[in-house]
Amino acid sequence: MQQPLIMTPGPTYIHEEVRNALSQSITNPDLDPKFYTFYKETCETIQELFNTKNEVLILSGEAILGLEAACASLIEPGDKVLCIDNGIFGNGFGDFAKMYGAEVVYFQSDYRSAVDVEKLEEFLKDQHDFKIATLVHCETPSGITNPINLICPMLKKYNIITVVDSVSAIGGEPLETDKWQIDILLGGTQKCLSAPPGLTLLSISQYAWDKILNRKIPIAGFYCNLSQWKNWYEEKWFPYTQPISDIYGLKAALDRLLREESYLERHKKIAEAVRKSLVYAGLALYPLDGFSNTVTTINIPKGVTYQQIFDTMLKEHKVMIAGAFGFLKNKVIRIGHMGENCYEEKLYITLKALDKVLRKFDIHLKGELHKLFVSFL
Ligand SMILES: *Cc1c(COP(=O)(O)O)cnc(C)c1O
Repeated sequence: MQQPLIMTPGPTYIHEEVRNALSQSITNPDLDPKFYTFYKETCETIQELFNTKNEVLILSGEAILGLEAACASLIEPGDKVLCIDNGIFGNGFGDFAKMYGAEVVYFQSDYRSAVDVEKLEEFLKDQHDFKIATLVHCETPSGITNPINLICPMLKKYNIITVVDSVSAIGGEPLETDKWQIDILLGGTQKCLSAPPGLTLLSISQYAWDKILNRKIPIAGFYCNLSQWKNWYEEKWFPYTQPISDIYGLKAALDRLLREESYLERHKKIAEAVRKSLVYAGLALYPLDGFSNTVTTINIPKGVTYQQIFDTMLKEHKVMIAGAFGFLKNKVIRIGHMGENCYEEKLYITLKALDKVLRKFDIHLKGELHKLFVSFL
């Protein structure tokens, strides 16, 4: 049977080069010195992707592990954490901080817009006594990219540790970890990197390491304890057996992406054409600004439900798109244009299917979505 085209905002399509790497024969990653070199080289490739000289680690666990590991390793009970919140992931970061005993203060910004930088600047003038701030680069459920390039330097003026969830932006949006002063940047593999889910990538600044290694109260837990990783290369010691096949796959995916010099332009160009075609046809996007280059979130028009769109897309056109969760459940549909899925032909097929499905439910569209898309490229 023909496989459906998976156009959700992650997991994304995995290229043959990556699948072949995943099936390579393995060695003993704890004992083979070559694996330590390979792991280090993979970290160096990630440094290139992140634009950072900070130390990079690959953790065995989907990206949520990165969020939790950052909180577990940095937060001591009673620490004040600023949670910058303009969406579901931003808000949820505060819950992780609370789990580790933080006293969380939320800076809330309109959920349909990128974080309001001027209001945040005003807020920080009054209140800046925070050890850590958490923020999200791309709010995947709403399809909004936040100006972390402006926000992080603002936080660093007050010596606040910046922890950024860039899971759905890495590889699809510009990223300057060192220039933007991001202390901990974290990402996953199943979004724009187009490798299978299962790993967290993160970079840690010297400032963040100093805080992690000089706590008064020891870190509770083992898997989330980043200090276990200090000196892994010098001592040729991993805290646990590495998921070697997944790391082979990740390296192949990174090499594939970085070989292409214009991957950021590709994401921008495709995303813009997707949005323009939807808006021209008369559909409404959920975000009012801060449009993401990796995912587009569309308000469901009156007269059709999420379930009808999802089911008909999949059954009649073999294309899978996503809805959302939390307060956006049944209100929006989302098309991912991430990594291997961010190509003209895949969006053409997706928009053609969406066009047919919406017409089937008598939704009026001005022009045909897929033809508009091509005209806007
Ligand atoms: C995908 C994603 C994660 C990882 O979450 P899952 O629900 O496990 O996929 C974390 N943060 C953001 C912003 C994401 O888009």
